[in-house]
Amino acid sequence: MIPSVLPTYSRAPLHFVKGEGSWLIEADGRRFLDMGAGIAVNALGHAHPQLVQALTDQAHRLWHVSNLYEIPQQQALADKLVATSFADTVFFTNSGTESCELAVKMVRKYWHDKGQPEKTMILAFEGSFHGRSSAGIAAAGAEKMTKGFGPILPGFTHVGWGDHDALHAALDDTVGAILIEPVQGEGGIRPLPDQCLKGLRALCDEKGILLVLDEVQCGVARTGRLFAHEWAGVAPDIMMVAKGIGGGFPLGAVLATEEAASGMTAGTHGSTYGGNPLACAVGCAVMDIVSDPAFLDTVNARAGFLRQKLEGLVSSHPDLFEEVRGAGLMIGLKCKVAPADVVKAGYECGVITVPAADHVVRLLPPLNISEDEISEAVNRLDFAADVVREAMG
Ligand SMILES: *Cc1c(COP(=O)(O)O)cnc(C)c1O
Repeated sequence: MIPSVLPTYSRAPLHFVKGEGSWLIEADGRRFLDMGAGIAVNALGHAHPQLVQALTDQAHRLWHVSNLYEIPQQQALADKLVATSFADTVFFTNSGTESCELAVKMVRKYWHDKGQPEKTMILAFEGSFHGRSSAGIAAAGAEKMTKGFGPILPGFTHVGWGDHDALHAALDDTVGAILIEPVQGEGGIRPLPDQCLKGLRALCDEKGILLVLDEVQCGVARTGRLFAHEWAGVAPDIMMVAKGIGGGFPLGAVLATEEAASGMTAGTHGSTYGGNPLACAVGCAVMDIVSDPAFLDTVNARAGFLRQKLEGLVSSHPDLFEEVRGAGLMIGLKCKVAPADVVKAGYECGVITVPAADHVVRLLPPLNISEDEISEAVNRLDFAADVVREAMG
């Protein structure tokens, strides 16, 4: 009999009932260090007092009004994002997938309005993840996401990660945009080298096409800059954001330059819930904290500390682990054993991590995690490594 919850996830038998900062508490009372943070969503941990305050204050005043009216919290958040990024304008969504949908529509409308409607092709990369909508799975292209869901939305072409020859060969006159994650998340925490992002920007400028960045996972201070592309010193034309921006409340956004967004006039796009007062009140509180340069300095310091501890873990268990990679507090532990086994052993030892592709276990802790919590998490992973080895016999 089909479960009452549609079984599209194979879930771990964990029932969390409470969150406190970097900790999750199970129904049976066990305390877990949360190095997954809801897959980079709980950017400031659980029940952060300023976020709770922002949400409850707003909840007592007004939950929802239609986008037919001005929404002051939405205006305030858009102003903050425009002030702190390359963008001139912002549209709010409820998820990364919805941000992908708009990014794709924006690219198509841009070329339509330019009188070059043939430039509908978006060039994307193998191993990428852009959400589970029809456009999202088409953009990612991997068979594990698209199989059985045809006909697949046309207009996407894929090249291998790091395959420069294929990239140049694919760039014909039908390509209107390049879409890429500055750090691949689901693909196994694969950072795009700064030089490559610079190169892609130059290539887009040379061809006169748009650069679209998916910063749904790597954005919002995760890499130690407010947005990951800042490390390369170049800016996109369009950027997708979600996950961390809401700190756990559903919120996403598409940021764009005035030029890239020029086709998106009244009536061309919309959302019932996108930019609602509750989400934007929380989003403003998140932005106030994470855009502070002192906060970003701390993220970078903690990232260095975690990385150093993990290097130690790899040297203690060279039979299980291969390397540590990533950017900021978006870290991948490349395994020589099945990552799912490491994650499962972590559960037994009271630490939450998340598997990814390419034999990687992901660590995406709250950005405000303490050094003591980092040390404790890595101690627990050290125990978990022993559990994995014993299970192998
Ligand atoms: C999670 C994710 C998405 C999809 O976001 P949802 O909120 O799950 O729809 C898109 N792109 C990237 C890079 C992601 O990590």
